[in-house]
Amino acid sequence: MQFSSSLLENAVNEFDKLPGIGKRTALRLVLHLLKQDPREVGHFSEVIARMRKEIRFCQRCFNVADGDICSICANSMRKQDVICVVESIRDVIAIESTQQFNGTYHDSAV
Ligand SMILES: [Zn+2]
Repeated sequence: MQFSSSLLENAVNEFDKLPGIGKRTALRLVLHLLKQDPREVGHFSEVIARMRKEIRFCQRCFNVADGDICSICANSMRKQDVICVVESIRDVIAIESTQQFNGTYHDSAV
C-alpha cells in the first residue's frame, strides 16, 4: 500500500499489529477514525491508553480489576466459598454473561 501521509501509514501499521486485523481492515478503521470528530478520537485513544496503564489484577482471584479487589470478589452478595477455576478473563466474561453463577473465580493462568 502506498500512502501519501506517513501519519496515516503509521496509524495503519499500528492497527495491523492487532490480532485478526489485516492491512485492509486496518486502513478501513483508520479512515473511519479520520472522519470522526478529533475529540471523539482523542477519547478513544485515552480509553485504550488508560486501560493498559491503570488496569490491575485482583489480589484474590487474579482477574482484571480497577483496584486491589475486583468487583466480583468485592460483591458481598456472591458466595465467596464457591470458586470457579478459569483459564482466562474470557471465561469469566462468558460465565458472567449467563447470569447463572453467583460464586467467585480463580484465574489459574497466573
Ligand atoms: Zn477478584
